[in-house]
Amino acid sequence: MIDYQGTIEAIYNNLKQAPEKGIVASYIPELSKQSSDRFGIHIQHIDGRTFQIGDWNVPFSIQSISKVLALSKAIAFEDNLIWKRMDVEPSGNPFNHLSLLELENGIPRNPLINAGALVVSDILISHLKHPKEDFLNYVRNITGDDTISYNLDVAASEQRTGYRNHAAANLLKSFDNLNNDVDVVLDFYFHQCALEMNCAQLSKAFYLFANKGKCFNDKQHISSSQAKRINAIMLTCGFYDEAGEFAFEVGLPGKSGVGGGIVALLPNDFVISTWAPGLNAKGNSLLGMQALEQFTTRTNRSIF
Ligand code: GLN
Repeated sequence: MIDYQGTIEAIYNNLKQAPEKGIVASYIPELSKQSSDRFGIHIQHIDGRTFQIGDWNVPFSIQSISKVLALSKAIAFEDNLIWKRMDVEPSGNPFNHLSLLELENGIPRNPLINAGALVVSDILISHLKHPKEDFLNYVRNITGDDTISYNLDVAASEQRTGYRNHAAANLLKSFDNLNNDVDVVLDFYFHQCALEMNCAQLSKAFYLFANKGKCFNDKQHISSSQAKRINAIMLTCGFYDEAGEFAFEVGLPGKSGVGGGIVALLPNDFVISTWAPGLNAKGNSLLGMQALEQFTTRTNRSIF
């Protein structure tokens, strides 16, 4: 029997002392208020057990992690059509890179880079009656937690400074790959990224990807084949130009966000979330990556 609690405590105590904690994101001004001293880990086992340490119950901005949740909702609406509007190949480039999008005629490489996520936002807006409210309700529903909300200050902060996202949305529109107005798509996207959760809520939100599409409350939201596909996309594209490194070091499907969160999972086994706001040069949580590498190495639990 694996000693999950003992393992995360040892990793936490070890990394808490790390001299190098990374740099907190500041291109979204509101995010720069976070301290790089924050650090939390939470495990949600599929059998219901939980293990946690540090700042696991402090809410943070999940940012790009939300792209996976949005994708799961969009896939439930348009299983095949969606892949005519974006690809499933790793981009090998930063999350906000633009030149590939121009070169490849407005078809984003995958749904987890910003351009792909903007197309996913467009799909959700076309299908949902009250897009922001309905998406929030979906997230609350799969997590079984009505206290989850958008942080409106973070959304407004990115609205003011998200120049590259404005550029990506305009480029997509120029290639006819957005059906709704650019401003409406961006407004939805900035809110989606501004979802706030703590590590425990994040682990619960991703339970359905570890459980063949069934959420924490045993409701089937996507098919097991769709869950498999989303896990494959997380593995190959979840960390942008560091996806290879994450697979190499950690060996789990996962997703990062510039708020410092990372969630990763072993299908049919567990979901693990980490939060440490200091980022590495590729925009992924420095301590989070190290914690997950140590976790899969010590427990020998990975998909490989
Ligand atoms: N909202 C952020 C952006 O679009 C998300 C980026 C991220 O978390 N990697 O820039």
